[in-house]
Amino acid sequence: MFHRIRRRKQDPFLVEARRRHQAMWEMAQRMPWPPVQEPQAAAGPSESQVYAGPTDPVAEVDDFLPSELRVPSHDQVAGWMMPWPWPLVLDGEIVTCTDCGIYRDWVIISTRNQIWLRCRAGHQQQEVRLDAAWFNRHSGPGDGTHLTFEDCLRYLGH
Ligand SMILES: [Zn+2]
Repeated sequence: MFHRIRRRKQDPFLVEARRRHQAMWEMAQRMPWPPVQEPQAAAGPSESQVYAGPTDPVAEVDDFLPSELRVPSHDQVAGWMMPWPWPLVLDGEIVTCTDCGIYRDWVIISTRNQIWLRCRAGHQQQEVRLDAAWFNRHSGPGDGTHLTFEDCLRYLGH
């Protein structure tokens, strides 16, 4: 059965790019992690913002983990980004940078359910045809957490 020989192989470049590069950056102004969650500690209004859910029954025992190994909760992450080296085609048209006209080598940024495209030259434009669900479908697992937007960009090679 010759036609069985060749299953369509995914382009290893695409696979690798999706697998390796997604990074998130945290709110720069986030509060420091609480050292230990004390049961009797009165959670004031400002303190409660630190936790993803102050009344969460599965409060994690995280005092043995160094902070860099902890996964930030959703409200502590300002956004995610991934590189997109290819042309981006939406509604049959190739998206270009409105400032410099390039059409590939983007960083795609997902923040507050908005998608922004950033070109090599650092121009950013919102892409309303895309949303966070699209981003999540196309990105790999996060492999880096960075305190600032700029660190995150550097990490992705921009
Ligand atoms: Zn540009």
